[in-house]
Amino acid sequence: MQEETNAVLKIALGLFDMDKLSINDDELSKRLVEGLRSVNGIDDAKLKLVLQKKEELLPLEEYAINMAKQYRDNRLSSYSEFGDLVSYYNQGYKSSMVIPIIAIGKRVGVITLLSRKEEYFSDELASYLNIAVQLFGLQLMNREENAKNVSLAKYFDAAFNAAVPQLIVDRKGYVVKANKSANMLGIAAKALSGMNIKEILDIDSNMLETLKNGVVGTVRSTNDPFRIFAVSQNSVNENVMHVVINEITDKKIIEEQKAMLARLNNVFLMLDNNTTIIAVEGNPDLVMKSGRESLLGRKLADMIKDKEAFGKLVETARSGGGSGEFTMLLDNNISIDTKIDIFKNGVYGISCIVSPLYYERYTKRLEENIDDIIKSSSDIIIIIDQFGYVKRVNKSTLDMLGYNEQEIVGTAISSLYYADAAQKIENAMSMAKQNGNVSNLFMNMKRNGTDEVVPFEQSVRKLVNEGNELSGYMIVGRELATKRVISRMEDEIERITRDAEKFKSESDLKTQFIYNISHDLKTPITNIKGFSKLLYNGDFGELNGEQKNYLQIIADEADRLLSLIQQILDVAKLSSGKIKLDMQQVDIKKLVENPSITALKEVAEGKGLMFGLNVEYNLPTVTADPNRLIQVFVNLINNAIKFTEKGSIMLNIYKKGKSIRVEVKDTGIGISKEEQRRLFRKFYQVQHKGLVKQEGAGTGLGLSIAKEIINLHGGKIGIVSELGKGSTFWFTIPLISRKKGKQ
Ligand code: ADP
Repeated sequence: MQEETNAVLKIALGLFDMDKLSINDDELSKRLVEGLRSVNGIDDAKLKLVLQKKEELLPLEEYAINMAKQYRDNRLSSYSEFGDLVSYYNQGYKSSMVIPIIAIGKRVGVITLLSRKEEYFSDELASYLNIAVQLFGLQLMNREENAKNVSLAKYFDAAFNAAVPQLIVDRKGYVVKANKSANMLGIAAKALSGMNIKEILDIDSNMLETLKNGVVGTVRSTNDPFRIFAVSQNSVNENVMHVVINEITDKKIIEEQKAMLARLNNVFLMLDNNTTIIAVEGNPDLVMKSGRESLLGRKLADMIKDKEAFGKLVETARSGGGSGEFTMLLDNNISIDTKIDIFKNGVYGISCIVSPLYYERYTKRLEENIDDIIKSSSDIIIIIDQFGYVKRVNKSTLDMLGYNEQEIVGTAISSLYYADAAQKIENAMSMAKQNGNVSNLFMNMKRNGTDEVVPFEQSVRKLVNEGNELSGYMIVGRELATKRVISRMEDEIERITRDAEKFKSESDLKTQFIYNISHDLKTPITNIKGFSKLLYNGDFGELNGEQKNYLQIIADEADRLLSLIQQILDVAKLSSGKIKLDMQQVDIKKLVENPSITALKEVAEGKGLMFGLNVEYNLPTVTADPNRLIQVFVNLINNAIKFTEKGSIMLNIYKKGKSIRVEVKDTGIGISKEEQRRLFRKFYQVQHKGLVKQEGAGTGLGLSIAKEIINLHGGKIGIVSELGKGSTFWFTIPLISRKKGKQ
């Protein structure tokens, strides 16, 4: 019996010793049950918890809990008091004990112990078992209380749902609970429970303790040193802290920075305060001849030749940072010259950028290949020796500064600069000597032999020879868009604008002038016509035949003048855009049956010409001004008759693409290619060789009017002609009116 009681005691103490927060309820229960089952003579132990889980209870278990009384039966039989006991007996058990678990006045659960031995649960063993079980209950309750502390603290409840990662952490740094937003820390919130804060953030529980009363620590993520968090802590109770974690890195910026670093020829390192490398980004293989993995964990200070100087530089990181040039000793006796920029990163860390110092060698190569670049560049490029005398320049330099090559080579560079810029370029050279390169210099140079200032944005770069000694400098400059250049451009724009306006108003004026004159001519000519008609009719006395004949000529000429004036007015109106078309649905087949066109058929036939009309069947209608179209038809047909002596005149009308095409085809004198181009201009008339200008010949306005009209309809007009063989004048009217936008 001694053996069993000792075993039970051990279980009890073991339970009490356990770190209450590092294992969960199930784990604790398992340890109790398994511990008890291992005791010699105890063949089964069943634990049921009622505080949280409310497990289903057998009648005896219920009884034990409700009565807060343990129940022992050391002689199980088919007559036992409870059905449960009878079934235990049927399963071969001889003794049983049911112990209610009660802690701090609360019913926590019940445990049933079974033995195949008779009279097993002695008074002594029962009391030990009772102690062990009650201790278990206390443990459970205690945990329960902690959980309550965690979940009930008011501020905590409200805050825990916020979209800010929050953890409940015990005093040893273990996470008891994490809110959903804790996912943002890079680990699933569920997986965070049970982890130590050290595995999540670069901070331990002691450090965390110091971050109370609103003290905020800046802490890096353990897994991604690029991520930085502001961490603060509040005590929930003596056991746990409520930790609030705010990310203060901008992830997008970090990603961009990483991508940028990878493109540049340098390396970005994060160091802890011992200069141990904890993160590597950029191009370590290129710059440090080492892979990322091989650098991690090494002390950067150990790799630097001048450790003292580097130590000083590291010191400056505390107050913001600095930079210096260092020889880095790599594996396999490789050493490289680097420039190291160092700066503070968070509370504890240092970051640095390591760049190679081989740009002198690069510029050396550049100088050798420079001719091509120099020649083609629109920037000025000037190579000077180490004493500041011009060695070589490109063409842009000569052009912009007004020198020829012999003049400029050998002159002191400062003499090319304007006033105080001469001193500035000297300073820039000595700066370039130290740092390799100076850029973004705003410098005024001057034009040869004048006071004219030519401003540049320039950079000065040091050049070295094979032996790495200073061999000179290269100055590259881009002319700035100065006031001078800008005002030159402004002048130009103003001039063009003025000219354009002048042309516009000139042609407007011309049109207006013609319009006015023509309009004024109309009245007197109408009077001439009217009075000659009165005279002719004998209203003012009888006239003889000759007189009548002349009057007829006057009347006819007046008619001609009127029609001429009408045309001029038309042109003026059309080209000023003042005319409004009277758009309607027009059936062209019907239109050509108009009397003014059929009359022309007779004129043609009267002249011995064949006149044919060929209109496509089912021709769609078009949106057009019918009177204006007739005007075009009449003009083209009239011309065809006029310039055709024998043969025929054909009118073809058909649908072509999205337009109706009209062709007026004659077998007349034709027009040369040269003349065709000028045909549609105002007042243009072809000089037909050997053709005596006919009486009543036109004005040279007809085609230009036709063109205006067709253009106003959104159509095109043109001519196909061969000298001596005939001409085809054509025009198109779009089926969908482009003028009005709808049919
Ligand atoms: P006009 O009133 O003088 O006929 P147009 O503008 O109608 O003015 O024609 C301009 C010139 O184009 C005519 O003078 C003539 O020389 C030439 N022309 C027009 N149509 C034809 C044609 N069918 N055949 C040959 N020449 C033509």
